[in-house]
Amino acid sequence: MKNILLTGTAGFIGSNFVPYFLDKYSGYNLINLDLLTYAGNLENLKECEKNPRFKFIKGDICNRELVEFIFKEFDISGVIHFAAESHVDNSIKNPEAFIKTNVNGTFTLLDVAYKYWMNKPFAYKDEYKNARFHHISTDEVYGTLGETGLFSETTPYAPNSPYSSSKASSDMIVRAYHETYGLNTIITNCSNNYGPKQHDEKLIPTIIRNALANKPIPIYGDGKNIRDWLYVLDHCKGIDIAYHKGKAGQTYNIGGKNERTNLEIVAKICEILDELLPKDESYKNLLTFVEDRAGHDRRYAIDASKIENELDWKADETFDSGIVKTVKWYVEKYS
Ligand code: NAD
Repeated sequence: MKNILLTGTAGFIGSNFVPYFLDKYSGYNLINLDLLTYAGNLENLKECEKNPRFKFIKGDICNRELVEFIFKEFDISGVIHFAAESHVDNSIKNPEAFIKTNVNGTFTLLDVAYKYWMNKPFAYKDEYKNARFHHISTDEVYGTLGETGLFSETTPYAPNSPYSSSKASSDMIVRAYHETYGLNTIITNCSNNYGPKQHDEKLIPTIIRNALANKPIPIYGDGKNIRDWLYVLDHCKGIDIAYHKGKAGQTYNIGGKNERTNLEIVAKICEILDELLPKDESYKNLLTFVEDRAGHDRRYAIDASKIENELDWKADETFDSGIVKTVKWYVEKYS
């Protein structure tokens, strides 16, 4: 049996990843560390609670003593690090928490892993020679695109928000632990995820919740900002493949080739709702433009050819199939 430490798994992506990973690998015990901030919810992991290979610890990734204790107590031989402050709007209002968790927290995990697994730079202890640190990151580190072009792994970092700059910083520290100490690291940078269990504050849950409550659906600016959407389980499969097959020290971009403006997202969701729960008038009439987010990046789009070609990953879900599943999940939640 191998014991793997997963952080931030009571949040959106982690809580989709854990049941998938538990089910797929019977040789892993999963030790889950999450602070249960406003963004974390144990309900998201309810389906795993009774699994003897699932253990949950409430705690802060910045707490070095706790992280060291977990490594020793469970003899951790792999890390998959999801924990982060993740909402751009909150990072504009309160950047400090983002620096603390995303930068200092990632540093703490890396440094404890390095000292637990290795004797000195480039010298792994025999029993940990395959131990790997996988850092989950975002395409937002690359900044914003014009009307054409895609983010690849060689695109220079140009983060614009406190959120993306804290994630970019954490990526750089991961890189340094590979380059300086020879730590076996992987970074995956993913585009916008959608699917079940996302926090209410994010775009797609907000559209559905407000539509169902007959409240205005707020859209920033002119609604023409473009994001590249990926179904969360496809992201989880990409993480699984990169964790197991990725080359040490490498970065892999994961994306869905599903560029949509925010207006297109609202229109699609409203169409699905119009069919599922028809009313006298379309849900589209609830759309309301609100003042734009400060420093709002215009367009993100990912070139995922490296992970597709080198590791054989591809998205299973199309946007049209994934968004229907997603809307149905939130209709159930909010009704
Ligand atoms: P989320 O906000 O839904 O969940 C974050 C989790 O981290 C929560 O459970 C929270 O309690 C926990 N957490 C926060 N601070 C912590 C701390 N100091 N110690 C321990 N736990 C802490 O985020 P998400 O959307 O699931 O994102 C997970 C990861 O994926 C993040 O690193 C994020 O940057 C990255 N990412 C997200 C997306 C996306 O579209 N959601 C896209 C690309 C990358």
